[in-house]
Amino acid sequence: MASKIIFGTAGIPHSSKGSDSVSGIERVRKLGLDAMELEFVRGVHMGEETARQVKIAAEKNNVLLRVHAPYFINLNSSDKKKLEASKKRILDSAKIGSIAGAKIVTFHPGFFQGGNKKTVLEKVISEIGSIIDEMKKQKCAIALAPETTGKPTQVGSLEETIAMCSALKELQPMVDFSHLHARENCRFKAERDFEIAIEEIPKKFLNDLQMHASGINFSEKGERNHLNMEEKGNSFNYKWLLEALKEKNVSGCIISESPNLEEDALLMKKYFEKI
Ligand SMILES: [Zn+2]
Repeated sequence: MASKIIFGTAGIPHSSKGSDSVSGIERVRKLGLDAMELEFVRGVHMGEETARQVKIAAEKNNVLLRVHAPYFINLNSSDKKKLEASKKRILDSAKIGSIAGAKIVTFHPGFFQGGNKKTVLEKVISEIGSIIDEMKKQKCAIALAPETTGKPTQVGSLEETIAMCSALKELQPMVDFSHLHARENCRFKAERDFEIAIEEIPKKFLNDLQMHASGINFSEKGERNHLNMEEKGNSFNYKWLLEALKEKNVSGCIISESPNLEEDALLMKKYFEKI
C-alpha cells in the first residue's frame, strides 16, 4: 500500500473563530486538514461533558484526535508526591482523551537527573506499566505514546523510546523528529538521515506512525524553542522528512507544532501530495 500521511495542528488552529476544541475541530476540517491534538500541556482542564461533545464533533468532521499530556511529568522523580502527581496527570489525560475518542495520549516521560541511564529507563518503564494496569482496571481504552524529547537530559532518545515500546506491548512511539534533530545537535543533515531514523523504528509501528514536526531552534544542550519551518534559523528540513516517509512507505499522522500551527501543517500536506 502507498504511504498515506494525514496532517493536523497541535491545538486549536489560530484561524479558528472560537477558542474551544469543537470550533477547532470544525476549523481543521475547513482548512482541509485531518487531525488535531488536544493540548492538556498546562493541566487537564477538559471535563467529561465537553469531551463527549468533542468526540461527536470529531466523528462528524472526520478529524483524528490525539492528546498531549501535561508538561509537568517526571516518572523518575524520587519525590513520591511528585511521582504520583505525574502518574495522575497521565491517567487523567487518558481518561478524558478516551471519552473524547482520541487515538493516543503522548507525554514526555521524565528526566535523568544525573542517574544511570539504564536504571532510569527501567524505573520509567515500571511506572508506565503501573499506569497501564490502572487504565485497564478503569477500562480506559486509549494508547499511551511516549514522545521523543528535545534535550539529552530528558528521557526520550529514539532508542530509549523504542526500548519502552518493546518492554510494554501497550505502548507506541510518538516520534517528534524536530526534537531528535535538536537533542542530537542537527541530526538530520540529509534525506538519508531521516531514512536511517525510520529504519530504527520497528516495522509494526510504520503503518500508523504518530509524529510531531516543527521548525526548531537549539543549542548544544538541545531544544530551545520551536520555529516556523520557513523561519530564519531553522535547519529542520521537512521536505527530507516527507520524502523519507514516502520512500519508506510509512503511513500515519503528523501534528504541526510550529508556532504558526496550521500554516506549516498545510505546507507539509501540500508538499507531501506533490512528491
Ligand atoms: Zn511534546
